[in-house]
Amino acid sequence: MKQPHPPVTRPRLVILGTGFGAFSVIKRINTRVFDITVVSPRNHFLFTPLLPSTTVGTIEFRSIIEPVRIARPETRYYHAECVGIHQRRREIRCKGMLDGRRFVLPYDYLVIAVGSSIATYDVPGVRQHALFLKELSDARAIRQKIIECLEQASQPNIPPDVRKRQLHFVVVGGGPTGVEFLAEMHDFVVKDLRKSFPTVVGDVKLTLLEATEEILGGFDGALRAYTRKVFKRQRIDVRTRSPVARVGRTHIVLRDGTVIPFGLAVWSGGIGPTDLARTLPFPRDSASRIVVDEYLRIKETSRLFALGDCSSVEGKHYPATAQVAQQQGKYLAKALESYARGLLPVPFRYKSYGMLAYIGEGKALADLESVKGRGFAAWVFWRSVYITRLVSVKNKILVLFDWMKTFIFGRDISRF
Ligand SMILES: Cc1cc2nc3c(=O)[nH]c(=O)nc-3n(C[C@H](O)[C@H](O)[C@H](O)COP(=O)(O)OP(=O)(O)OC[C@H]3O[C@@H](n4cnc5c(N)ncnc54)[C@H](O)[C@@H]3O)c2cc1C
Repeated sequence: MKQPHPPVTRPRLVILGTGFGAFSVIKRINTRVFDITVVSPRNHFLFTPLLPSTTVGTIEFRSIIEPVRIARPETRYYHAECVGIHQRRREIRCKGMLDGRRFVLPYDYLVIAVGSSIATYDVPGVRQHALFLKELSDARAIRQKIIECLEQASQPNIPPDVRKRQLHFVVVGGGPTGVEFLAEMHDFVVKDLRKSFPTVVGDVKLTLLEATEEILGGFDGALRAYTRKVFKRQRIDVRTRSPVARVGRTHIVLRDGTVIPFGLAVWSGGIGPTDLARTLPFPRDSASRIVVDEYLRIKETSRLFALGDCSSVEGKHYPATAQVAQQQGKYLAKALESYARGLLPVPFRYKSYGMLAYIGEGKALADLESVKGRGFAAWVFWRSVYITRLVSVKNKILVLFDWMKTFIFGRDISRF
């Protein structure tokens, strides 16, 4: 059904998403020039680089989110997902997240920043039996499951094989997300479980399964080798060349037939297109990302823009990272204003600030263009970069407070 929409004199800008790309546009866009509507299934921005820290309670969930209604009250927000685009009529079709009610929104300019989804590569059982680490709800499910495994393993009369399985935490995928989750898990075991679960802590086992030859594929070779050394000392079992054939309720089966029982399996194997991006009739690259030109305009269209993980700039190979999405959002907020004033903006240029990853025990990696840092100094750098990148003063204060709280009192292990 067509939604009655207030008459406007300014061009209508509709933004799909509230992630790194979209939020960067929303924060900077000139609301005197555009009438802005945001449509997203998530009513807040999520600072994903610190998501692994929330799975064990180093940081609390609400410390790394910012509601879009508070960040930019002058914009209109609908808690819905876009399910289709009618280019000729300049309309999008939406579906409410709470009641599934459908509505249509007109646009003059449309920004698509719908991110990515988890790629399972059609491995059977992944969606049913493994947990993902992408949204806050995923982190909450992981935190709950960890505590459940520990409580169950502590029960009297539990058969030894079940106890052993419950205490085995397995991560599939050796990218930064999988590595950082294991690093957080290691800290949790060493610093907190010794006191709270003294009878089971010695039997907790952490395993990382990676299909290729290396973990942290995009990082410098020396930093990768350093991580392997640190993980070995932390007794994290890293198994490379171990592609997963299927995931069962209690076991992972590798392609070579090895059976790995687990209490918790986290799937962090890579990303693919979202349902929407997969079905849109736009030119796409081999990874199904929407192809845009150097002005972030979708090829063969007008007034349609895409950015972040769901897009691919023609002729460039930008990584699917927050950095890229954020810079594109910043650029697009200005570029859109130029279009609205009848001017052509300058093309988008990406500047890489390097990569960071936490590897546990107060150690991190800093893979910058000029410096390859590791250890404690890199960890201090990692923390200071993320504190400055958090999107609001409230988030910064809450995260600093959480870090302090964890240092003094440890992580919470309550199940509720
Ligand atoms: C655990 C984790 C850790 C990470 N760590 C880092 C890091 O340290 N550094 C780094 O650079 N990158 C990191 N990344 C990657 C980074 O989060 C992504 O590259 C970045 O979020 C991409 O931004 P985006 O705006 O394209 O998509 P997202 O931030 O994913 O946002 C997509 C938005 O679109 C919305 N959406 C989805 N479908 C629809 C629809 N049909 N209609 C409307 N809206 C829709 C979603 O709800 C969401 O709001 C990490 C990712 C994860 C999961």
